[in-house]
Amino acid sequence: MTTAIVFDIREFAVHDGPGIRTSIFLKGCLLSCSWCHNPEGRAQQPQIIRAPGGERVVGKEYSPLELATILNKQARILQANEGGVTFSGGEPLLQAEFVAQVVELLDGVHVLLDTSGYASEPAFVRVVERCDLVFYDLKLMDREAHRRYTGVYNDSILRNLRVMSSMDVPFVIRVPHVPGVTDTDANLAAIAETVCGLPNLIRVDLLPYNRAAGGKYQYAGMQWNPEFDETRELNINPLPFQKMGVPVRVV
Ligand code: SF4
Repeated sequence: MTTAIVFDIREFAVHDGPGIRTSIFLKGCLLSCSWCHNPEGRAQQPQIIRAPGGERVVGKEYSPLELATILNKQARILQANEGGVTFSGGEPLLQAEFVAQVVELLDGVHVLLDTSGYASEPAFVRVVERCDLVFYDLKLMDREAHRRYTGVYNDSILRNLRVMSSMDVPFVIRVPHVPGVTDTDANLAAIAETVCGLPNLIRVDLLPYNRAAGGKYQYAGMQWNPEFDETRELNINPLPFQKMGVPVRVV
Protein backbone atom coordinates (compact mmCIF):
# COMPACT_ATOMS: atom_id res chain seq x y z
CA MET A 1 0.00 0.00 0.00
CA THR A 2 1.21 3.50 -0.80
CA THR A 3 1.67 5.57 2.33
CA ALA A 4 3.36 8.88 3.03
CA ILE A 5 4.85 10.77 5.93
CA VAL A 6 3.08 14.05 6.73
CA PHE A 7 4.79 16.53 9.03
CA ASP A 8 1.95 18.97 9.49
CA ILE A 9 -1.73 19.42 8.75
CA ARG A 10 -2.62 23.09 9.02
CA GLU A 11 -6.34 23.86 9.20
CA PHE A 12 -7.99 27.22 8.43
CA ALA A 13 -4.93 28.37 6.47
CA VAL A 14 -5.48 31.67 4.66
CA HIS A 15 -2.07 32.14 3.01
CA ASP A 16 -1.76 28.84 1.14
CA GLY A 17 -4.07 29.58 -1.78
CA PRO A 18 -7.58 30.90 -2.38
CA GLY A 19 -10.15 30.92 0.43
CA ILE A 20 -9.82 28.97 3.64
CA ARG A 21 -7.74 25.84 3.20
CA THR A 22 -6.35 22.79 4.88
CA SER A 23 -2.66 22.47 4.05
CA ILE A 24 -0.90 19.14 4.06
CA PHE A 25 2.87 19.27 4.49
CA LEU A 26 4.55 16.14 3.18
CA LYS A 27 7.94 15.16 4.44
CA GLY A 28 10.93 14.90 2.16
CA CYS A 29 12.66 17.13 -0.37
CA LEU A 30 15.63 16.42 -2.65
CA LEU A 31 16.67 20.06 -2.70
CA SER A 32 18.72 21.70 0.03
CA CYS A 33 17.99 25.40 -0.46
CA SER A 34 20.26 27.62 1.60
CA TRP A 35 17.22 29.59 2.74
CA CYS A 36 14.80 26.71 3.44
CA HIS A 37 12.48 27.70 6.27
CA ASN A 38 11.09 24.17 6.73
CA PRO A 39 14.16 22.14 7.76
CA GLU A 40 11.87 19.60 9.43
CA GLY A 41 10.36 18.94 6.00
CA ARG A 42 13.60 17.96 4.28
CA ALA A 43 14.18 14.39 5.52
CA GLN A 44 11.60 11.89 4.37
CA GLN A 45 11.43 9.95 7.61
CA PRO A 46 9.92 11.07 10.93
CA GLN A 47 12.44 12.87 13.16
CA ILE A 48 12.77 14.18 16.67
CA ILE A 49 12.55 17.94 17.15
CA ARG A 50 14.04 19.27 20.36
CA ALA A 51 12.50 22.71 20.90
CA PRO A 52 12.37 24.77 24.11
CA GLY A 53 8.79 23.57 24.65
CA GLY A 54 9.92 19.94 24.71
CA GLU A 55 10.74 17.03 22.48
CA ARG A 56 8.37 15.75 19.82
CA VAL A 57 8.40 13.45 16.83
CA VAL A 58 7.64 15.24 13.59
CA GLY A 59 6.17 13.08 10.86
CA LYS A 60 3.27 10.65 10.86
CA GLU A 61 2.45 7.96 8.35
CA TYR A 62 -0.91 8.06 6.56
CA SER A 63 -2.57 5.90 3.96
CA PRO A 64 -4.40 7.78 1.17
CA LEU A 65 -7.73 6.70 2.65
CA GLU A 66 -6.83 7.90 6.16
CA LEU A 67 -5.83 11.33 4.92
CA ALA A 68 -8.73 11.67 2.47
CA THR A 69 -11.18 10.74 5.25
CA ILE A 70 -9.85 13.58 7.43
CA LEU A 71 -10.05 16.03 4.54
CA ASN A 72 -13.50 14.97 3.38
CA LYS A 73 -14.88 15.72 6.85
CA GLN A 74 -13.86 19.33 6.23
CA ALA A 75 -15.05 19.45 2.62
CA ARG A 76 -18.23 21.45 3.25
CA ILE A 77 -16.46 24.15 5.26
CA LEU A 78 -13.69 24.42 2.68
CA GLN A 79 -16.17 24.64 -0.20
CA ALA A 80 -18.33 27.21 1.64
CA ASN A 81 -15.27 29.42 2.05
CA GLU A 82 -14.09 29.08 -1.55
CA GLY A 83 -11.07 27.22 -0.31
CA GLY A 84 -9.80 23.69 -0.54
CA VAL A 85 -6.78 21.53 0.13
CA THR A 86 -3.16 22.51 -0.48
CA PHE A 87 -0.42 19.92 -0.82
CA SER A 88 2.92 21.36 0.21
CA GLY A 89 6.12 20.22 1.88
CA GLY A 90 8.98 19.45 1.70
CA GLU A 91 8.23 18.49 -1.87
CA PRO A 92 4.86 16.78 -2.32
CA LEU A 93 5.88 15.33 -5.69
CA LEU A 94 8.45 13.17 -3.92
CA GLN A 95 5.37 11.19 -2.85
CA ALA A 96 3.43 11.75 -6.06
CA GLU A 97 1.58 8.45 -6.14
CA PHE A 98 0.28 9.05 -2.63
CA VAL A 99 -0.87 12.60 -3.44
CA ALA A 100 -2.60 11.42 -6.63
CA GLN A 101 -4.44 8.70 -4.71
CA VAL A 102 -5.57 11.12 -1.99
CA VAL A 103 -6.88 13.58 -4.58
CA GLU A 104 -8.84 10.81 -6.30
CA LEU A 105 -10.59 10.10 -2.99
CA LEU A 106 -11.58 13.72 -2.26
CA ASP A 107 -15.22 14.81 -2.47
CA GLY A 108 -15.10 17.67 -4.96
CA VAL A 109 -12.60 19.79 -3.03
CA HIS A 110 -10.44 22.39 -4.80
CA VAL A 111 -6.86 21.07 -4.89
CA LEU A 112 -3.72 23.18 -5.03
CA LEU A 113 -0.21 21.77 -5.47
CA ASP A 114 2.64 23.86 -4.07
CA THR A 115 5.80 22.52 -5.72
CA SER A 116 9.42 23.21 -6.53
CA GLY A 117 8.82 21.41 -9.83
CA TYR A 118 11.71 19.06 -9.11
CA ALA A 119 10.29 15.68 -10.11
CA SER A 120 10.22 13.18 -12.92
CA GLU A 121 7.87 14.11 -15.72
CA PRO A 122 5.50 11.15 -15.13
CA ALA A 123 5.25 11.98 -11.40
CA PHE A 124 4.64 15.62 -12.23
CA VAL A 125 1.89 14.88 -14.76
CA ARG A 126 0.26 12.26 -12.53
CA VAL A 127 -0.40 14.84 -9.82
CA VAL A 128 -0.84 18.06 -11.80
CA GLU A 129 -3.57 16.67 -14.05
CA ARG A 130 -5.61 16.06 -10.88
CA CYS A 131 -5.14 19.61 -9.52
CA ASP A 132 -7.15 22.80 -9.92
CA LEU A 133 -4.25 25.17 -9.36
CA VAL A 134 -0.46 24.94 -9.03
CA PHE A 135 1.96 27.20 -7.19
CA TYR A 136 5.26 26.68 -9.01
CA ASP A 137 8.54 27.95 -7.54
CA LEU A 138 11.20 29.44 -9.77
CA LYS A 139 14.30 30.28 -7.82
CA LEU A 140 17.32 30.76 -10.06
CA MET A 141 17.54 30.65 -13.83
CA ASP A 142 21.32 30.24 -13.95
CA ARG A 143 21.99 26.49 -13.94
CA GLU A 144 25.22 26.61 -11.92
CA ALA A 145 23.85 29.10 -9.40
CA HIS A 146 20.82 26.86 -8.95
CA ARG A 147 23.10 23.93 -8.20
CA ARG A 148 25.17 25.99 -5.78
CA TYR A 149 22.27 27.31 -3.72
CA THR A 150 19.78 24.43 -3.90
CA GLY A 151 22.01 21.40 -4.39
CA VAL A 152 20.48 20.42 -7.75
CA TYR A 153 20.46 21.64 -11.33
CA ASN A 154 17.28 23.28 -12.60
CA ASP A 155 16.92 21.17 -15.77
CA SER A 156 13.93 19.10 -14.63
CA ILE A 157 12.30 22.18 -13.09
CA LEU A 158 12.45 24.05 -16.39
CA ARG A 159 11.31 20.96 -18.31
CA ASN A 160 8.31 20.53 -16.01
CA LEU A 161 7.51 24.22 -16.39
CA ARG A 162 7.12 23.63 -20.14
CA VAL A 163 5.00 20.54 -19.40
CA MET A 164 2.94 22.60 -16.95
CA SER A 165 2.19 25.27 -19.51
CA SER A 166 1.00 22.64 -21.99
CA MET A 167 -1.53 21.24 -19.51
CA ASP A 168 -4.95 22.69 -18.90
CA VAL A 169 -4.23 23.69 -15.30
CA PRO A 170 -3.79 27.33 -14.19
CA PHE A 171 -0.60 28.12 -12.32
CA VAL A 172 1.13 30.87 -10.36
CA ILE A 173 4.90 31.28 -10.49
CA ARG A 174 6.37 32.01 -7.05
CA VAL A 175 9.78 33.61 -6.73
CA PRO A 176 11.31 33.40 -3.24
CA HIS A 177 13.44 36.50 -2.79
CA VAL A 178 16.75 35.75 -1.14
CA PRO A 179 19.05 38.77 -0.69
CA GLY A 180 21.82 38.87 -3.27
CA VAL A 181 20.90 35.41 -4.60
CA THR A 182 17.48 35.21 -6.26
CA ASP A 183 16.54 38.89 -6.07
CA THR A 184 19.08 40.24 -8.55
CA ASP A 185 17.68 42.22 -11.47
CA ALA A 186 19.39 39.77 -13.85
CA ASN A 187 17.68 36.75 -12.30
CA LEU A 188 14.28 38.46 -12.14
CA ALA A 189 14.61 39.53 -15.79
CA ALA A 190 15.53 35.97 -16.79
CA ILE A 191 12.49 34.60 -14.95
CA ALA A 192 10.24 37.22 -16.58
CA GLU A 193 11.58 36.26 -20.01
CA THR A 194 11.03 32.55 -19.31
CA VAL A 195 7.43 32.84 -18.11
CA CYS A 196 6.24 35.61 -20.44
CA GLY A 197 3.44 34.32 -22.65
CA LEU A 198 3.17 30.87 -21.06
CA PRO A 199 -0.39 29.54 -21.47
CA ASN A 200 -2.35 29.15 -18.22
CA LEU A 201 -0.03 31.43 -16.23
CA ILE A 202 -2.20 33.50 -13.87
CA ARG A 203 0.52 35.73 -12.39
CA VAL A 204 3.90 35.85 -10.71
CA ASP A 205 4.14 36.23 -6.92
CA LEU A 206 7.29 37.81 -5.49
CA LEU A 207 7.84 36.39 -2.01
CA PRO A 208 9.97 38.41 0.44
CA TYR A 209 12.70 36.54 2.29
CA ASN A 210 11.62 34.92 5.55
CA ARG A 211 14.13 36.20 8.13
CA ALA A 212 12.94 33.66 10.68
CA ALA A 213 14.17 30.81 8.48
CA GLY A 214 17.24 29.97 10.54
CA GLY A 215 15.47 29.68 13.88
CA LYS A 216 14.26 26.10 13.49
CA TYR A 217 17.52 24.46 12.39
CA GLN A 218 18.99 23.82 15.80
CA TYR A 219 15.76 22.15 16.94
CA ALA A 220 16.00 19.75 13.99
CA GLY A 221 19.64 18.99 14.85
CA MET A 222 20.82 20.82 11.71
CA GLN A 223 23.22 23.67 11.15
CA TRP A 224 22.07 27.00 9.73
CA ASN A 225 24.83 28.10 7.39
CA PRO A 226 23.30 30.43 4.80
CA GLU A 227 25.64 31.16 1.90
CA PHE A 228 24.36 34.71 1.64
CA ASP A 229 24.13 37.86 3.69
CA GLU A 230 20.77 37.75 5.45
CA THR A 231 21.05 41.38 6.49
CA ARG A 232 21.45 42.71 2.97
CA GLU A 233 18.53 44.80 1.75
CA LEU A 234 16.09 42.87 -0.40
CA ASN A 235 15.55 43.91 -4.01
CA ILE A 236 11.86 43.37 -4.69
CA ASN A 237 11.52 44.58 -8.24
CA PRO A 238 8.35 43.86 -10.22
CA LEU A 239 9.55 45.99 -13.18
CA PRO A 240 11.07 43.18 -15.29
CA PHE A 241 7.68 41.45 -15.20
CA GLN A 242 5.65 44.60 -15.76
CA LYS A 243 7.81 45.51 -18.76
CA MET A 244 6.95 42.19 -20.37
CA GLY A 245 3.24 42.43 -19.54
CA VAL A 246 3.38 39.60 -16.98
CA PRO A 247 0.88 40.07 -14.11
CA VAL A 248 2.91 40.35 -10.91
CA ARG A 249 2.32 41.07 -7.26
CA VAL A 250 4.40 41.29 -4.11
CA VAL A 251 2.98 38.89 -1.53
S1 SF4 B 1 12.43 23.19 -2.22
FE1 SF4 B 1 11.37 24.07 -0.47
S2 SF4 B 1 11.32 22.44 1.07
FE2 SF4 B 1 12.86 21.86 -0.45
S3 SF4 B 1 14.78 22.63 0.42
FE3 SF4 B 1 14.00 24.20 -0.97
S4 SF4 B 1 12.82 25.59 0.33
FE4 SF4 B 1 13.13 23.68 1.51
